[in-house]
Amino acid sequence: MALQKEMKICYWCGKLATSVEHFPPKGIFPSEHRKNLLTVPSCDEHNSANSKTDERFRFLLHAPEPSELAKKWYEEKTKKAIYREEERVFMEGIAKTSKPIDDIPGIGGTFIFEATIINDTIEKITRAAFYRHSGSISLGMEYRCFYTCFPDTDPAYNEMAFKTLELARTDEKMIQGDAENPQIFDYKYRLDENTFVVLHKFHVVQEFIGLLKLK
Ligand SMILES: [Zn+2]
Repeated sequence: MALQKEMKICYWCGKLATSVEHFPPKGIFPSEHRKNLLTVPSCDEHNSANSKTDERFRFLLHAPEPSELAKKWYEEKTKKAIYREEERVFMEGIAKTSKPIDDIPGIGGTFIFEATIINDTIEKITRAAFYRHSGSISLGMEYRCFYTCFPDTDPAYNEMAFKTLELARTDEKMIQGDAENPQIFDYKYRLDENTFVVLHKFHVVQEFIGLLKLK
């Protein structure tokens, strides 16, 4: 009799896995840039394939048009998904808070959105990366997120985010991750006794720090 294959557990909670979760969400990759996407085993509860948060996150990444590729994907796919009827309330919020930037011609405008869209997505991919590189789940570990590509309304946060990003960028102990579509997503990480730090990069220029406190 053959030995049973080892049971896989959910990267987030440790329950029996029933599927795989892509990290970052598959939907942010244009179809021609889906080479060996990263996955972790996941339970139903922690698999968020095609969730609204994923679509909104993609919208936030693409709307500022950080690259030609992002711009193209925004026009072809992202815009359609986000302007559907069920996203009406979200888009109304965006429309209501939109302001043009007059002093920088061609730049466009700004709008206000809930930081949870970014925080939740970065938490998911940070916990997935932790599972991938440590083999352990991160349930109960405190998580924090820092970024400057979308300024916060709180200047103190922006200052701390700027400093944290600078530290991660220049940290020589950061290890290159194994994402294979670096034009869309790439990451570096550092795992030590107390913390797990990941520098996530989208479209080469959009950077987010995900941090887990191990103790
Ligand atoms: Zn789970």
